Amino acid sequence: MSDGKERRIGLVTGGSRGIGRGIVLELARCGMDVAIVSVSADPAVTDRGAYGVKSEVEALGRRAVVIKADVAAEADWQRILDEALAAYGAVDLLVNNAGVSLKQRFDMLETTTESYDRVMGINLRGPFFLTQLVARRMIEQAQAGRGGPMAIVFVSSISAYTSSVNRAEYCISKAGLAMCNALFADRLAEHGIGAYEIRPGIIATDMTAGVKDKYDQLILEGNLLPQKRWGQPEDVGRAVAAIARGDLAYSTGQVINVDGGFHLRRL
Ligand code: NAP
Repeated sequence: MSDGKERRIGLVTGGSRGIGRGIVLELARCGMDVAIVSVSADPAVTDRGAYGVKSEVEALGRRAVVIKADVAAEADWQRILDEALAAYGAVDLLVNNAGVSLKQRFDMLETTTESYDRVMGINLRGPFFLTQLVARRMIEQAQAGRGGPMAIVFVSSISAYTSSVNRAEYCISKAGLAMCNALFADRLAEHGIGAYEIRPGIIATDMTAGVKDKYDQLILEGNLLPQKRWGQPEDVGRAVAAIARGDLAYSTGQVINVDGGFHLRRL
């Protein structure tokens, strides 16, 4: 992707581990420099977390910067963009990947406002307003004649359409991201900026580590997935890399299921 003239820049929230790390590494492999947003980034920790991923990117011959920020915090949104621009001068791809599940699962008849606000703040409110800022910047870049594909990615979930009554706010946040994708795709098309929703299924990360045994049974022994294996972060990373390269340039607003066929209705 990089022709030596204009470096392509990807900004990935939650790029410190799990799916976000998989996305960052695939973007680096296809020639992008990256900005990694992590809420817990610690420069003293270099063998894992955001600085560990930075080293992995550099080993692939690409540049990486770490931005310590909380995507739920209004005060951090502009700073995330400013730090990415200070490092690289442009952003070509924003991947809204950072997200959390519930600290504790509740029956939805018992869901608390505290849990609801936390999950919605990180998973939906933050991505909407961060995207708003980045989109304005991308429009300026397009008007200034920056070439190459520009896009926004929302990492939602099969929970955007699958009911789990013990984590209602997670499902609602992901359904909201699906509409963010449609809205930004519509609004930004005239500027040549794409928007895409990636819907991961069950991916092996810290988020699913606590339910590994349950999912091992459902995936490996049961009939939950047509493709009987766990998803890996690089499965999601490769889908994002296709968007970054511009391979889906005429498909704005598209929903990409990375779920081993979970979404298929079967008889
Ligand atoms: P994970 O392993 O728990 O990693 C979460 C990532 O989000 C970390 O990089 C974390 O940064 C970051 N993060 C959390 N809160 C943040 C905040 N307030 N501000 C900035 N960064 C924050 O999760 P994952 O499984 O990779 O999931 C990534 C995304 O995919 C999430 O949106 C999740 O909902 C979605 N997803 C996951 C699965 C799955 O099966 N794993 C399935 C469908 C969708 P720190 O390292 O600094 O904490």
